[in-house]
Amino acid sequence: MSNTFLGMPTLPVFGSGNLNATEPFPKAAHRELGNAQLRANLGHATHTIRDKRLKVVAELPDWEEMRDAGSAIKNATMAKLPALLEQFEANFTARGGIIHWARDAQEANEIVTGLIRATGETEVVKVKSMATQEIGLNEYLQEQGIAAFETDLAELIVQLDHDKPSHILVPAIHKNRDQIREIFLREMEDVDPGLSNEPARLAEAARRHLRRKFLTAKVAISGANFGLADTGTLTVVESEGNGRMCLTLPETLITVMGIEKLLPLWTDLEVFMQLLPRSSTGERMNPYTSLWTGVTPGDGPQSVHLVMLDNGRTAALADEMGRTALNCIRCSACMNVCPVYERTGGHAYGSTYPGPIGAILSPLMTGIKSEENNSLPYASSLCGACFDACPVKINIPEILVHLRGEDVDSQRARVKVPTQMDLMMKGAEWAFSDGGHLNLLEKGLPLGKLVAGRDKVIKKLPGLAGKWTQSRDIPAPPGQSFRQWWAKEHRAPSGVEAGESAEGDQA
Ligand code: SF4
Repeated sequence: MSNTFLGMPTLPVFGSGNLNATEPFPKAAHRELGNAQLRANLGHATHTIRDKRLKVVAELPDWEEMRDAGSAIKNATMAKLPALLEQFEANFTARGGIIHWARDAQEANEIVTGLIRATGETEVVKVKSMATQEIGLNEYLQEQGIAAFETDLAELIVQLDHDKPSHILVPAIHKNRDQIREIFLREMEDVDPGLSNEPARLAEAARRHLRRKFLTAKVAISGANFGLADTGTLTVVESEGNGRMCLTLPETLITVMGIEKLLPLWTDLEVFMQLLPRSSTGERMNPYTSLWTGVTPGDGPQSVHLVMLDNGRTAALADEMGRTALNCIRCSACMNVCPVYERTGGHAYGSTYPGPIGAILSPLMTGIKSEENNSLPYASSLCGACFDACPVKINIPEILVHLRGEDVDSQRARVKVPTQMDLMMKGAEWAFSDGGHLNLLEKGLPLGKLVAGRDKVIKKLPGLAGKWTQSRDIPAPPGQSFRQWWAKEHRAPSGVEAGESAEGDQA
């Protein structure tokens, strides 16, 4: 991996916030799998969104061409990112906005805190934002004596329950209506004690709870879905209208956006405004799309700031194979179709970004060498459903395999002696590189029957292979291989077995 991309230095990351898992995926997944309620909630929610998505995607005859267009625009963006960032900055500041550059989570948190302190406020309202979750902004602000109120319904549920989001689009996907009702009754001061679990009643309770915050907050914090380089415009797409309130009512607006969120042209939105809602919520059109360009005198926030966040993105850009992960538009389609995510849920990934995209994004941004993140690329069956669903055609399985390779290389560099996996692979290389070798090994097949015993299954393999038999039995191998059977059935008149030449079978 080179450490520059198109002359852009790879910035060191000192505090990456919530990108690093706190424990390896297998351990966390094992714990989460014990939660039957979680699996039921997730199965229901992911299947509902998945079906909606399939229906609206099928309506568009040019969906595949649209995906190609989205992929091409993002690839072109990454290819000239330094120039586009400069263009965006010039246009944003020319219209009255102020840009701040943050190398990592720590710097971004300090900048945002400084901006809030300058207003004299101690409370802020927030629009749902992955970037601020990534940097752990809420926790940081709390330490600094500033209260941040989430206004997206699902984020509010998670915040009230002192929990963590488990999905990038539906952060409370792991909770059902009864659980939400219980959280509201426990945590909201102004809630009707007779609150039912009907969605409309729950939404009403949240609306009442938030209204006072919207009307009194002087500072709002948001993320951004896109930044348009040719006009210096920022975009937020959302479904509830809470974003629109936060982006227009307060006097000060602070946005935190990853540097990869740029699009070259305003007109590129034509493609992404079709790809994003269909892929994320299964809607034809997004309910609320807010766009703002700097400051408009007398209308909306009069102090507009943007924190441009690296936090490992330049490291991901420098990875030739992995950089397409930065094309992600955070639609969540990949996690809704992932069989691993559906069973373990988002918390098992440990990072702000769960599911297939998280399994590649977190290690790319923070490095594969961390003990916790190096298990993430293995959190996949490589079935390819994520690739099929991705609206910008990120080849997630290919990047997963690439990162697994990096992990193996880094382990080899650390542990100088060959690992069990190395020895097994060497053995496989020897066996499959020559038909004669394979023939020799196959002669040992009858031994398998002995190992299997009377019930004809092998219950436990030794060493690393034992992980395979941890959750399944292996049927006893047949007494002879197909090649041995074939050779017997088609014995040549000369006595030389078919499939075995005198010089050794090279098949
Ligand atoms: S990787 Fe693709 S499918 Fe997954 S969240 Fe990103 S854009 Fe959506």
